[in-house]
Amino acid sequence: VPPESYGNLLQHFTGSKDHNVALRERAVKDGLSVSEYSITVVESGDELRYGSEAEVYERLGYQFIPPELRENAGELEAARKGELPKLVELADIKGELHCHSTWSDGRHTLEQMALAVRERGYSYMAITDHPRGTLAEQDLEVDQLNERLKPFRILKGIEVNIRVDGSLSLPDGELAVRDWVIASLHGAFDRNPTERVLAAMDNPHVDCIGHLTARKINIRPPAEIDFESVVPRAVETGTFLEINSQPNRLDLRDTHARLAGEAGVKVAVNTDAHELRALQHVEMGVAQARRAWLTKDQVLNTRTWPQIEKLLK
Ligand SMILES: [Zn+2]
Ligand SMILES: [Zn+2]
Repeated sequence: VPPESYGNLLQHFTGSKDHNVALRERAVKDGLSVSEYSITVVESGDELRYGSEAEVYERLGYQFIPPELRENAGELEAARKGELPKLVELADIKGELHCHSTWSDGRHTLEQMALAVRERGYSYMAITDHPRGTLAEQDLEVDQLNERLKPFRILKGIEVNIRVDGSLSLPDGELAVRDWVIASLHGAFDRNPTERVLAAMDNPHVDCIGHLTARKINIRPPAEIDFESVVPRAVETGTFLEINSQPNRLDLRDTHARLAGEAGVKVAVNTDAHELRALQHVEMGVAQARRAWLTKDQVLNTRTWPQIEKLLK
């Protein structure tokens, strides 16, 4: 393929197949034939070669369609009307809302985590260690670090377990004084998972549900959560959902994240990092958010902490 056909080539082989089939079928109706070499105007035999994908889409009558959206899931229709969303970008993320340290099962200290998060250019981090009976000591360390690192801010978060009866692994009184509360399923995934998540969302202190289905790709299947009942309850109660960016979780999955966004739920893109290098998984979470059509506004942590605080229950 000659360099002047690079856009045609890239578009052709980027896929998905469903996207390209639909695109070519529509082109045929317009008297055009699309290949990896060119767009052929059937009537005149003219071969149109383009160096960029954007030009290919433009000639075919579309807005540029980002590769993440090429699933034949409504993107062609939206692009023809010029109504594609402006997708969230990595640079929009302003803070980390789910991570662990040596205060629970993390590999690095709170200080190491905070410094690494600040190094990413973020302005805040919620430390969400699992309860280990050491919250008072941890909070003292948070205060000291916040004094040293300001204006960077560590929020006093927690990740509580949603128990089999739907109750949480810390009493309400202790949750009430946390800055940020994540509730997650960590076991007994086959025992009323939907009812347990709904009960957790009803708790006035729970801000966000962590890794909703608890799936671990290639390790265990997702819990059978009835997403159709979770989303309206999230809207009603003002509870956020997360895209957990761990490569073997990516939970919410893209189709669910899209439905959540469309229903008006703000989705946090979190790493759930248990070590420094896992903080970079935010890239995978943002990619997942883009596949879900999410805009900057639909992603919670594109906001500063004071802006998020105003949205809490
Ligand atoms: Zn968890
Ligand atoms: Zn976690």
